[in-house]
Amino acid sequence: MPRIWGYETAAIGGILATPGNTISNNLAASRMGCLPIFELEKCIHCGICDMVCPDYCLVWTQAANQEIHLQGIDYRYCKGCLRCVESCSTGALRRKKEMPCLAEQQRVKLFPELEGEV
Ligand code: SF4
Ligand code: SF4
Repeated sequence: MPRIWGYETAAIGGILATPGNTISNNLAASRMGCLPIFELEKCIHCGICDMVCPDYCLVWTQAANQEIHLQGIDYRYCKGCLRCVESCSTGALRRKKEMPCLAEQQRVKLFPELEGEV
């Protein structure tokens, strides 16, 4: 259920409740209502999406067979330009309307060590 802001529950003026600033480098506020959604089953790990992404927000890992595989997207750095969707020939990336919490649920962290997880 979306939170309803009223005069008793609204954030204090001057506070960025959803950060989109240079301190956190969170580009979420740049998105215009859509984001790319990744489907691993359709991905052939060709790397084309990574070549067109202006913000390097695609997260890769080395598989057991030494191949480099795409894991997902760190939406913290994604501005929603959808270049990756347009360039993906297999349909592994598709455009989706952004809903509350969707980016956080789908996010693969690019720098987990910076968020105290490694
Ligand atoms: S362009 Fe598509 S198939 Fe290629 S790595 Fe990216 S998501 Fe996977
Ligand atoms: S929508 Fe744009 S910024 Fe986001 S992952 Fe795709 S190419 Fe990168």
